[in-house]
Amino acid sequence: MNATALARKLKITTAELFETLPRLGFDIGARAIKIDDRLVDKIIKAFEDEKRKKQQLESQSRIKEIKLDKEKPLVEEKVKLPEPIIVRELAERLGVPLVKVMAELMKNGVIVSLNEKIDYETAAIISEDLGYQVEKQSAEEKESESEASESQQLKELLSQDKDNLQPKPPVVVVMGHVDHGKTKLLDAIRKTNVMDQESGGITQHIGAYQVKEKDRPITFIDTPGHEAFKSMRSRGSRVADLAIVVVAADEGLKPQTIEVFELVQREKLPFIVAINKIDKEGADIERVKKELTEINVVPEEWGGKTICVPISAKLGQGITELLDMVLLLADLSNFQASPDRPAIGTIIESHIDKGEGPVATVLISAGTLKTGDFVEIGKVFGKIRVMKDFQGRNVNEAPPSMPVKILGLKCVAAVGDVLKVISDKRLLKQKMRECRLIRVKPSLTSKKTEEEKEQTLGYPIILKADVLGSQGAIIESLAKINKPGVTIKIIKKGLGAINEVDIEEAFAAKAAIIGFHVKILPTVEKLAKEKNVEIKLYEVIYKLLEDLEQKLIELTKPEIIREELGKIKILKIFRKTKNEQIVGGKVMVGKVINNTKVKIIRNDEIIGFNDLVQLQSGRQDVNEVIIGQECGLKIIGKNIIEEGDILEIYQEKN
Ligand code: GDP
Repeated sequence: MNATALARKLKITTAELFETLPRLGFDIGARAIKIDDRLVDKIIKAFEDEKRKKQQLESQSRIKEIKLDKEKPLVEEKVKLPEPIIVRELAERLGVPLVKVMAELMKNGVIVSLNEKIDYETAAIISEDLGYQVEKQSAEEKESESEASESQQLKELLSQDKDNLQPKPPVVVVMGHVDHGKTKLLDAIRKTNVMDQESGGITQHIGAYQVKEKDRPITFIDTPGHEAFKSMRSRGSRVADLAIVVVAADEGLKPQTIEVFELVQREKLPFIVAINKIDKEGADIERVKKELTEINVVPEEWGGKTICVPISAKLGQGITELLDMVLLLADLSNFQASPDRPAIGTIIESHIDKGEGPVATVLISAGTLKTGDFVEIGKVFGKIRVMKDFQGRNVNEAPPSMPVKILGLKCVAAVGDVLKVISDKRLLKQKMRECRLIRVKPSLTSKKTEEEKEQTLGYPIILKADVLGSQGAIIESLAKINKPGVTIKIIKKGLGAINEVDIEEAFAAKAAIIGFHVKILPTVEKLAKEKNVEIKLYEVIYKLLEDLEQKLIELTKPEIIREELGKIKILKIFRKTKNEQIVGGKVMVGKVINNTKVKIIRNDEIIGFNDLVQLQSGRQDVNEVIIGQECGLKIIGKNIIEEGDILEIYQEKN
């Protein structure tokens, strides 16, 4: 018998077969192709015996484990854990009853509810105590794991969608190499074809928009393919029905373009190639087509299946033809969804708005979302209080393919998570209560030194420059001015004028915008003022570097001259005026003393320093509050404190 056939029969790989045979006492050589039939029977029997023994051992150890209950399992299992992790998820990952995990935490002095998050160190200690070998799951691993499960969840939900299927507008994602003109194309389409322009709505950047071509709506995912949106690119391809791959006619195919073709082909996403920048000197449409053919993306006119449309996003040329081709491809692909079922969608943007609370944009895949609907998004719940379209107008219903901004969630939803409408109100109420309880516990043992912790703090900026050359030079120089305590964190870089998307992103990330040789339109400037986003424009690099260096010094200076007393987590904002806030919180580390400085930290970013001028415990003015206690604080300063912020309390040393 062939070795491969035998391996198949034993339900293992050939490599596993050759690995196991010597252990079972068979010496057939590591490369044998054929195995004597007399030997085959013996091998099969030996494998069956071993399997039986293993099963016996396993059941014995299970019995032992149940009997000993609190003892470690006999075999240490490996498990990967993300940072942070919700207690319930930890129990699921370990395959251990929830109560056991909570009891173990309690033994170690950590009192948590099942929905609270604990940090990696705490989770690792508990898991090791329970007999597991732990390894930290990298952010990418977590991301791809959750993407795969979201993708699966969405597919499963949509596959149930069989009744009353009706054609739905195509959802289009624009992809391609950086600087090939994705943003420009999205802008050009938006400007010329926005639906109901005359009704006076003002375009808002909510992550997607809709246009009309030949009276038929088309949805565009408005997320440019910058580095910060790497994960969104693959998500975009999942929520989208078809892709436009932009290739600059003067530069042709680039590595990122090829990556995009691989992605769309893997995802079986219908696509059109937009050959952009045909107005430019050096544009060579035929060369692009030749390069496409070389990677097996053969244009229609060359006998292949790929629709190619030459365009100039800058001059608005070829846009109508491109949209017509989108509609043609949509007709050929026959995209359908039932508008009647409870809505399902995907979160494509999410942030906390100062006035509106948690806000998210959902792109509806099937069904119709209505105001008043109760929704579940991963572990987040809420009732849709208000829905707004991308022009900021209130809407009561969102049918398939429509992007809408939703208000009414209790917590911030994660981008990429699936939204489902739920009807069991009792379950929903319970979940909503739990959702409010999710918060991060302080570390059980902090293995990081203070210095290491400080290293993770960053001053976030969005960098916009005129050309790639200056952008590169600035980035290189910025790396050199970073200080030990705090670093410049470029959350996004781009070329060209500062636009509304930059403002929205800076606002969401609490970042400043640094512009070099770029312009800003008065409307964009106005939006920045409204959102309190800091913009600084420079004409010379050294001035830009000098200012940012000064900023870093300002942020690090307090570390040198101030002594940290403790940390407090802000649980409630009671009152807020321009320069004064009354907040409530719980002391997590050390103590809080009145008349001290507070450093405001949000998601590991330094927001700034304010002054603590009054401290109350149980409505009494006090001078000191210690770990574990709750207190009220009157804080003066221009930096706005939000719920969930961590305040580090500093006392001046001299
Ligand atoms: P992205 O990185 O793919 O989003 O690229 P952008 O849309 O930001 O465009 C990169 C640069 O190419 C910008 O300076 C645009 O003004 C320019 N650009 C985009 N489309 C065209 C076009 O059709 N013609 C010309 N001449 N320039 C273009």
